[in-house]
Amino acid sequence: MVGAGLSRGLAAVLHVLGRRCQFCAAVLEHADAFPLCRNCRALLAPRVNGYCPDCGICYADPATPVYSCLSCRQGKPPWSGVAFHGLYSGALRELIHQHKFGHDHGLGLLLRDLIREAWERHCLPRPDCIVPVPMLPARVLDRGFNQSAELARMLGKVIGLPPLLSGLRKIRDTSAQSSLGRAERHRNVAGAFEAAASLSGQHVLLVDDVMTTGATLTACAKACLAAKARRVDIFFLGRAV
Ligand SMILES: [Zn+2]
Ligand SMILES: [Zn+2]
Repeated sequence: MVGAGLSRGLAAVLHVLGRRCQFCAAVLEHADAFPLCRNCRALLAPRVNGYCPDCGICYADPATPVYSCLSCRQGKPPWSGVAFHGLYSGALRELIHQHKFGHDHGLGLLLRDLIREAWERHCLPRPDCIVPVPMLPARVLDRGFNQSAELARMLGKVIGLPPLLSGLRKIRDTSAQSSLGRAERHRNVAGAFEAAASLSGQHVLLVDDVMTTGATLTACAKACLAAKARRVDIFFLGRAV
C-alpha cells in the first residue's frame, strides 16, 4: 500500500508540475500540450523564417523568407539536411547553459519538447543512425556528461532510434576553439574526428547542442563521409551568429 500511496503522491506532484511553465515555473492558465507560459513560449519560439536552410545561419530580420546564405551558395556544406530550433541567444542560450552546467532534468523535459518540435518541423527523412558530436573522454570526465550525447538520446526517443553514442570519436584536443576566428576554427578541427563504428552505407544524423561557425559539424560530417556514410544530416538546438 505504501507503493500505491507513493505513486498517488507522485501523480499529484506531477499534476501540479504539469500545470507550471517548465522554464519560469509560472502557473499555466490553460492546458497546453507545450509546457511553457505565453511569455516563455514567445522567448523560446522556433525560428521559422529568416534563416539559411543549408547551415541555419539566422538573418537579422526573422521575417525574411528562408533562403541560402552567400557562403552556402559559394560552397555547399558536406551535409544534406539541417534541422534546428533557433537562434542561440536569450532564453535558448540560458536554457542550454542551465542544462549543460546544472544537470537540471526538469529542463531536460523541456529540451526534449523543443527537440521534438524542431525535428517534426524540418521534416528530414528518418536516419539509419543518430551520432552525437563527441568530446575527448577526459573532457567528459571533467564535465560529467556530453551535452550532445544527452540531446542525441532525447532525439532518439523522439525518432524511436537509440543513438549510436560511439559512432564518432574525437582524436585530438581542440579546446582553444572559442578564441579562434572562423577560418582558424576550421583549420583547428579539421581531422579531429574519426568514425569509431561502421558507418558505411549509413544515413547519419549528427547531433550537436550549438552550431557556431559549423567547423566542428563540418569536420564530423567529413569523418562520416570518409567512413563511406551515404548521407549526413545535422541537428542542433541553437545557431550562434
Ligand atoms: Zn514561463
Ligand atoms: Zn548557409
